Amino acid sequence: MTAQIIDGKAFAATVRSKIADHVARIEETNGITPGLAVILVGDDPASEVYVRNKHKSTIEVGMNSYEHKLPADTTEEDLYALIDKLNADPKVHGILCQFPVPDHLSERDIVARIDPAKDVDGLHVLNAGLLASGQRAMVSCTPLGCLMLLRDQLGSLSGKNAVVIGRSNLVGKPVAQLLLRDSCTVTIAHSRTKNIEDVVRGADIVVAAVGRANFVKKDWIKPGATVIDVGINRIPAPERGEGKTRLVGDVDFAGVSEVAAAITPVPGGVGPMTIACLLANTLTACCRSNGLREPDGLTA
Ligand code: NAP
Repeated sequence: MTAQIIDGKAFAATVRSKIADHVARIEETNGITPGLAVILVGDDPASEVYVRNKHKSTIEVGMNSYEHKLPADTTEEDLYALIDKLNADPKVHGILCQFPVPDHLSERDIVARIDPAKDVDGLHVLNAGLLASGQRAMVSCTPLGCLMLLRDQLGSLSGKNAVVIGRSNLVGKPVAQLLLRDSCTVTIAHSRTKNIEDVVRGADIVVAAVGRANFVKKDWIKPGATVIDVGINRIPAPERGEGKTRLVGDVDFAGVSEVAAAITPVPGGVGPMTIACLLANTLTACCRSNGLREPDGLTA
């Protein structure tokens, strides 16, 4: 079997276009423009690139983007004063603080300060709790992107055996909760799991969120399984020249493609869905806070 490549870039483009249509409609009908505020503390070059991309994507779908760049020595007090101001601002529907932040600041406390209704990263404990108890939540972007790709690929997920490798609060746990909500039989594997290859062999759906290059091997995969590779790992690529690198996922793409029915590539799979889902969450937050109908297919 040669797996179908799940084109996350193309799917993310359709999601963004659906968002842009909905944004235009509520602007015309209700005079409301969704707004996303992004806070960047310090000058980490990778974070600056992420923030720039988020700003560009937000503007492209017709939303307002509010960037707040703060110096690396910003005090907790000043950062919280900004978050409080954004929490109270009716033009701001989503708030995101780009991580990592400098060491003197606590990511957990920053997330806790954000109004859960504006927590478009879905990291607030209230949102984690709502998701775990099957209630309406803001769902973190990468897990939501995985779910959208799986639903698009497979239709109903009900009754499927799913193995999620990784149990982080950011990816593994929310992915598992979402799959459970869609009536999969879910197993979460992690660094202490015994005979992980046997666990993965039972899966119709494999979601790998480990952070180890090419970790999931061909002979772990049940023929016909659907494989979602969340991992982003940079490895040396001497074939591209001295000192060059390239991105690979957590799945041995070449090998697993010979067995799986469908697989996401890295790059071009889950990655593009993450920003699309950030925009989807901002639109959802805007609709919820204004009592407007939420767009179909953009939430869990
Ligand atoms: P993380 O917080 O480091 O969690 C990694 C998980 O993998 C942990 O639960 C860990 O288990 C598990 N693990 C590590 N080694 C293992 C092993 N040998 N066998 C089985 N499980 C093992 O990472 P994360 O934030 O979830 O991210 C995971 C990957 O996704 C990273 O490559 C990250 O860059 C990528 N990512 C991509 C996107 C995107 O937009 N595409 C977004 C977020 C993250 P323990 O809990 O037992 O330690």
